[in-house]
Amino acid sequence: MQWKKALWYKNHIHGPVCTICNVPQIDDTLHKLITSGARAIDECPYPDRVLPLIYTIYHDSTTRGAAQAHFKTRWPTDIEFARWLIAPPIAPSRTNTMRVFLWFIETRWFQ
Ligand SMILES: [Zn+2]
Repeated sequence: MQWKKALWYKNHIHGPVCTICNVPQIDDTLHKLITSGARAIDECPYPDRVLPLIYTIYHDSTTRGAAQAHFKTRWPTDIEFARWLIAPPIAPSRTNTMRVFLWFIETRWFQ
């Protein structure tokens, strides 16, 4: 997925983030901490879950419209969406990717 390569978080802004699934490395209950010196691809427990959902949210026009309205922003292209995901985050989430993920789970998942 070429789009995924645009998702580069800044450690001094976002803290450590798994490079495979983009889940913040806060503690083992949220996401197993990647062992120092290990490759994230070998230890990430969610390699094909978060980012495919985030990408699908963008590409479903109804869901994207609802997300844009909720976050009071516009994402004309998927690259601009990626830039917003890695921008300084909306508190209390450590990344905007997690804000979108949690918004979707809270408002859409069980609808
Ligand atoms: Zn991961």
